[in-house]
Amino acid sequence: MSFDPICKDLQALRVTPNLADYNQARAAHSWDAIRAELQGLPGGGLNIAHEAVDRHARGTRAAHLALRWLGKDGSVHDLTYADMADHSARFANVLRTLGVGKGERVFALMSRVPELYFAALGTLKNVSVFCPLFSQFGPEPVWQRLSRGDAKVLVTTKALYEKKVASLRERLPSLQFILLADAEDDLDGCVRSWPKLMAAASTQFEIPPTSPEDMALLHFTSGTTGMPKGAVHVHQAALTHFATGRYVLDLHPEDIFWCTADPGWVTGTSYGIFAPLLHGVTNLVDEADFDAERWYCLLQDQKVTVWYTAPTAIRRLMRIPGEPRQQFDLGALRLIHSVGEPLNPEAVVWGQCALGLPIHDNWWQTETGGIMIANYAAMDIRPGSMGKPLPGIEAAIVKKGDAGVEVITECDVEGELALKPGWPSMFRAYLHDEARYAKCFVDGWYLSGDLAKRDADGYFWFVGRADDIIKTSGHMVGPFEVESALMEHPSVAESGVIGKPDPLIGQLVKAFVVVKAGHEGNDALRMDLIGFARKRLGPAVAPKEIAFVESLPKTRSGKIMRRLLKARELGLPEGDLSTLEND
Ligand code: ATP
Ligand code: MG
Repeated sequence: MSFDPICKDLQALRVTPNLADYNQARAAHSWDAIRAELQGLPGGGLNIAHEAVDRHARGTRAAHLALRWLGKDGSVHDLTYADMADHSARFANVLRTLGVGKGERVFALMSRVPELYFAALGTLKNVSVFCPLFSQFGPEPVWQRLSRGDAKVLVTTKALYEKKVASLRERLPSLQFILLADAEDDLDGCVRSWPKLMAAASTQFEIPPTSPEDMALLHFTSGTTGMPKGAVHVHQAALTHFATGRYVLDLHPEDIFWCTADPGWVTGTSYGIFAPLLHGVTNLVDEADFDAERWYCLLQDQKVTVWYTAPTAIRRLMRIPGEPRQQFDLGALRLIHSVGEPLNPEAVVWGQCALGLPIHDNWWQTETGGIMIANYAAMDIRPGSMGKPLPGIEAAIVKKGDAGVEVITECDVEGELALKPGWPSMFRAYLHDEARYAKCFVDGWYLSGDLAKRDADGYFWFVGRADDIIKTSGHMVGPFEVESALMEHPSVAESGVIGKPDPLIGQLVKAFVVVKAGHEGNDALRMDLIGFARKRLGPAVAPKEIAFVESLPKTRSGKIMRRLLKARELGLPEGDLSTLEND
């Protein structure tokens, strides 16, 4: 079933959108002009932390609320731009005192507590490199990343240190300092008390010369398709964060912005830290994990205006019966965005009905450092489409042939999604893996590894990851279209679809289905779902096998791990499970 477009009425939008006319914005865009809007360091150069914090702290927004932190226990901690400048300067001084220099790696292993944000910005001020990890990682994934990332400093908490890091120290010879955010005293010469070091540090810190090309961030990919890769980003990435904050998130000075992602995933830094601060708006951080009631209360009580979340969370909200707007006042909310996985058209439309606003899908990767394709506040939405390329970004659908990479100019033809290299937040390396990095760039294109198509009006449609595509009876099937069709059935909460080798048809489409509360996964439902999918997709594409499961394996960033569904189905090795969400 195709969904009707959701048309936008500019007059009805609550604020005048930053990007009112897509084609005009594309034509007018220049990265130099974006660069000119940032301040630059007094002596020249560009540093993300200067632009995100010090620039505002020394200007008219010094007293504006920069970060409102909501603790699990109900506590609230408000920090102005001036406060953020002080805390991050202190941390930069701590690093300097410890002899940590430019380019050296500072890791964080902690939940979303204020210290994480001070550490991120302070590390950038010191021109060291920040690498955040999910606090739920077990010791092995922590070790893998600290050693592969050449960690010199780790910021964590007493409990996490004891549980996950203490036993690894002998295997981490280059890790020189571990700073415990909640320890009153040092444990030894290497394991130090953060509060003591911070108390002794000055709030004055002059950011050393920083080149826009200096390494700033190291982010490991989600590990959805295999071993996570360490993507390197530079200070210039701030230009993309700033531009997308304007064009996509549509940030305006009085916005209250909430990004639900954890900084262990790139969305939680690019948009959970930098984009809102670069725009001088108020950034909400919730320490707690997903909880539908808490989230709706938060949207209501904090008067969130722009909300950035992920399909997996939206699907969890969709499972709950009832009308959220009858229970909660979501009147402040004006824009909802989602990233990380394909957003089923059903979810876009659910947003419109249940929340009063459609959900705006956008596409990007750890490697791209920022949003590349998006649905914009002022642009009509075609549910199921990722939208159109960001102004300043050239995207194409390509195919690799004997003659190299060829751009597919016809519409509605599937191919690999490619980007013209050179945007500011493009990753500059896969750490310690030059060959793999080089392979991503062919004939002047960055190849994303995702398959997509473009329609006649320039909207891009996600088909699937190249690795997940199913070849069945001569058809190429993307799991997304099958999963989306199943989602339209009233008893389906979520599904993951794989190809299972079959001697007759190549691969057979198999779906793993989670049913909504109150529904039972039995033979009758199985037959009903197969019939339902056949009507929507045709018999060649509809699943031939359906298994009912309690839950789907997901990464910590909320992505369905289809490779794991497949490995388990076929009894193959499960591969790297470091990012598997298992609690
Ligand atoms: P790995 O590269 O280690 O396998 P990963 O690709 O999941 O992990 P991320 O960089 O976090 O790591 O995710 C980027 C990928 O997520 C994209 O390449 C795409 O497959 C998927 N993705 C992100 N946003 C969307 C979207 N809006 N629609 C469809 N897919 C999306
Ligand atoms: Mg990837």
